[in-house]
Amino acid sequence: MTQSWEVRAQELDERDSLRSFRSEFVINDESVCYLDGNSLGRLPVSTPAAIAEMLAQWGDELVSGWQHWVDEAQRTGDVLGSTVLGAAAGQVLACDTTSVNFYQLCSAAVRARPDRQRIITDAANFPTDRYILQGIAREHNLELVILDNEQDDDQYERITEAQLTPLLADDVALVSLQVVQYRSGARNDVPGLTELVRNYGAFLVWDASHAVGSVPLAFDADGVDLAVGCTYKYLNSGPGAPAWLYVRKSLQPTLQVPIQGWFAQADQFAMGAEFERAQGIRGFQIASPSIVGLRSINASLSIIARAGMPAISQKAATATAFMIDVFDEWLAPLGFKLLTPRDANQRGGHIRIGHPDADIICNALRVQHNVITDYRVPDSIRVAASPLTTSFGEILEGMRRIRDCVASQCYQNATARIGRVT
Ligand SMILES: *Cc1c(COP(=O)(O)O)cnc(C)c1O
Repeated sequence: MTQSWEVRAQELDERDSLRSFRSEFVINDESVCYLDGNSLGRLPVSTPAAIAEMLAQWGDELVSGWQHWVDEAQRTGDVLGSTVLGAAAGQVLACDTTSVNFYQLCSAAVRARPDRQRIITDAANFPTDRYILQGIAREHNLELVILDNEQDDDQYERITEAQLTPLLADDVALVSLQVVQYRSGARNDVPGLTELVRNYGAFLVWDASHAVGSVPLAFDADGVDLAVGCTYKYLNSGPGAPAWLYVRKSLQPTLQVPIQGWFAQADQFAMGAEFERAQGIRGFQIASPSIVGLRSINASLSIIARAGMPAISQKAATATAFMIDVFDEWLAPLGFKLLTPRDANQRGGHIRIGHPDADIICNALRVQHNVITDYRVPDSIRVAASPLTTSFGEILEGMRRIRDCVASQCYQNATARIGRVT
């Protein structure tokens, strides 16, 4: 059987229309199976030159460079919109962090519904989103209702209309959900849930951090009002690269974010006494854009634009399906459980596998076997395929090393958790 998996991986790689893109990324060690899930995408070969070009501009142009740097958050936002978000120009900014953008948009949403008392999110939501919502609830004296989607074994954290509807009422100001659940990889129904929440007059803020660059997004067509996400996962823009925010055009005149910085001032360089908000998406910007970070985003987006999101999301579906097939034969008999939906339309670019010794297995894989996955509390491991950089051969080899490590129990000798982070 082993042989036939190899043949299948080889065939899938040969048929993969994106396989040549792997060479556009820095891969220093071919013996590493990089199946990280996906806390940090690989570095594009073109990024250092793009950043060097920016630094040269800085050296040459000095402060006059701001003539064209000043609106780069909007320009890069437009490229994000057209390349990966399905958003027409003038609705996206590339700025700050996901956390800051999330605070800004969620605060704007609750301010726009002053008579309402509740915010809804789910127990499996990303920590920063849950913590920020706790703070917003306290600040605005609202009740934070948590949908418990961690116990149910059938949906793998996927949020259904049937689960959400009983919590909805006309006193709900805001609902916030992830497009792809960061832990389980389950993908939510963006247009369906957006419409459901809108029917109650509430806002739905989507966090698409794990979805952007792995699944098709069509914010304009799907009626999305507000969304945020990062650029360092499937968008390969580097650690701490600027995040993005999306505000539907028709909402821009009515929403006000809490941090009213000078980049949102209508006549910014008049530097007047009173804040007067700019029209359009600039009214949601806080301050000076990180030009170095934006150039990094543009370098990777130009690769993604050439590959195209249809081919990228198809590869994510095929690669995770291949992982699941190999999982069923190699890992399920070793006591692993698949904790991600089997329907490709209901998942993103990663799968989650559960095992009682997940923590120590994940360490052993990194330290002893050169397989990079990531452990998530309490007992699971995320395994991702980043469509532009992960080959089917790499997936198969990674799964083989997981199998051999666990079958031989070699992880029992592994040291405790390494490092502080993922
Ligand atoms: C990765 C991720 C973030 C990251 O937030 P930062 O502010 O960039 O640190 C936020 N939300 C979700 C759902 C994520 O997956």
